[in-house]
Amino acid sequence: MRYSRFFIPTLRDDPADAEVISHKLLLRAGFIRRVTSGVYDYLPIGLRVLRKIEAIVREEMNRAGAQELLMPMVQPCELWEKSERMEKYGPELLRFRDRHNHESCLGPTHEEVICDLVSRELRSYKQLPMNLYQIQAKFRDEIRPRFGLMRGREFVMKDAYSFHADDACLRREYQLMFDTYTTIFNRFGLTFRAVEADTGSIGGSDSHEFHVLAESGEDLIAHCSGCDYAANVEKAVSVRDVPASAADAEEASEISTPDVTSAEDVAAFLKVDTALLVKTLVYHLHGGENNGAIVAACVRGDDQLQEIKLAHAAAADSVELASEEEVRSVGGVSGFVGPQGLSCPVYVDESLRDASGLVAGANKADAHVTGLSMQCDVADAVYADVRETREGDACTRCSAAIELSRGIEIGQVFALGKRYTEPMEVMFQDQQGKRAVATMGCYGIGVSRLMAAVVEQCNDEAGIHWPVSLAPFQVALISMGQSETVLAASESIYHELSDAGIEVLWDERKERPGVKFKDAELMGLPMQIVVGDRSLERGVIEYGERGGERIEAEPAMVAAAVIASLQQAGSSH
Ligand code: ATP
Ligand code: MG
Repeated sequence: MRYSRFFIPTLRDDPADAEVISHKLLLRAGFIRRVTSGVYDYLPIGLRVLRKIEAIVREEMNRAGAQELLMPMVQPCELWEKSERMEKYGPELLRFRDRHNHESCLGPTHEEVICDLVSRELRSYKQLPMNLYQIQAKFRDEIRPRFGLMRGREFVMKDAYSFHADDACLRREYQLMFDTYTTIFNRFGLTFRAVEADTGSIGGSDSHEFHVLAESGEDLIAHCSGCDYAANVEKAVSVRDVPASAADAEEASEISTPDVTSAEDVAAFLKVDTALLVKTLVYHLHGGENNGAIVAACVRGDDQLQEIKLAHAAAADSVELASEEEVRSVGGVSGFVGPQGLSCPVYVDESLRDASGLVAGANKADAHVTGLSMQCDVADAVYADVRETREGDACTRCSAAIELSRGIEIGQVFALGKRYTEPMEVMFQDQQGKRAVATMGCYGIGVSRLMAAVVEQCNDEAGIHWPVSLAPFQVALISMGQSETVLAASESIYHELSDAGIEVLWDERKERPGVKFKDAELMGLPMQIVVGDRSLERGVIEYGERGGERIEAEPAMVAAAVIASLQQAGSSH
């Protein structure tokens, strides 16, 4: 490709609205442009990378025996009613009516459509197992689209769905997909981790997420320094030494704490360890049997409440902090809420079960209770694990220290069981001739998010540093000046490499060499070839890896040398 004919609108400066490095670099290097909130154009150079990601995903999915199909983006809402997910999915599901007043939605995921298809075509156990996948645009009306391709509203996903006659078969496919994902992410040259995950609104029993480790990640993952335990903090469990109470036999009594509300301030005021404070938060439940109910939840003062764990404990889909009015409605006083005397269920973290000598809000303005014991003073408490795992907690499996890292979720696998196949009636005739419900797995990869995640891990001050497997072009061929000799020598190398199947961006623009080098580095092309009058006079052409040493070679030898270097760089991933 000749640079002068290629549409690459690069920017000199960082765009003001880009917060993370991948967003900045993908905009600056001319890979993407924003259309509207969370919706992007992939410009020609960006599309080349997206296609490469897709090709690797496709190759490995096909190798694993999955079959590609393509489902529509528009889905009829009846299917979502049938799977009982219409309400649950909430406002992320973009719904609309067509001219016949028929309600449809834009697909955020495709369990409903695939189950509908398979339910109509599946007859016998002999057709199972099968794994069907697609690579397609999804739409989720995210509340906070941000970080460019990382959290878009429209984004590209690879989604696969497998159907089985029994759970043992599903387990085997789940493992196969887990291994396939590992192969795929290794081919991208990524540092990643598979972690146990919550199943979220998709449902099902078992699930793992794959995370690229990066500071900009929106997820927090806990992993053990001693064994291979790793889980999203939404799910992670751990143990922690809790401080012994100084005054075990103490009776609960009320003390005045005017204007002292936060756990840290109360602890400082009373000169006690923050861990002896009880932080009580009041929540509104969404979804599930107790939809709309108010509950309270208690954790130690130095802990954070993990809302997803609370939602599970309370059998809700999600929880939201209650309004002041709601807090009052259950007998709480904002700033001084405590577990005693509330007229709602109180979920108490396990770490408080046997604790005494605690300090909690008194549900009265400017007052706290000291010497509190959960067992004695909060009779109806429901104990559950609702705290978030902290750095330094002990692993439940091997007692070594838990560490926390930030991660970008690039894929997730789910053993769904019959969560969808039952309501959607995906049935088949089993070996005994009886009608049976199929069991199901689903497996997603964030294809467009991966483009951003790779850039988060592969960049330097000069720009993006694509792994050879994903680079939009493998070689930047830079002509210094416009002399006939330079252009002729460049063109000959350009053809030689192109004929050998190497993708070359030939920068033959009338620009200063400095500009050309900067652009090649910003775009992240792994290899450079520099053709200049002076070196040609000496009978050589220079080449080298991006940001590495330049090597001189005779013009006739350059192409072969570059191909060899690319092969070496490619195989190092
Ligand atoms: P998240 O927790 O980040 O919102 P999710 O768990 O809801 O993601 P899944 O339903 O598991 O997402 O979708 C499969 C994959 O699609 C995710 O692992 C992620 O890589 C990608 N993905 C999900 N939401 C987005 C988004 N808004 N923009 C880009 N990619 C996304
Ligand atoms: Mg997920």
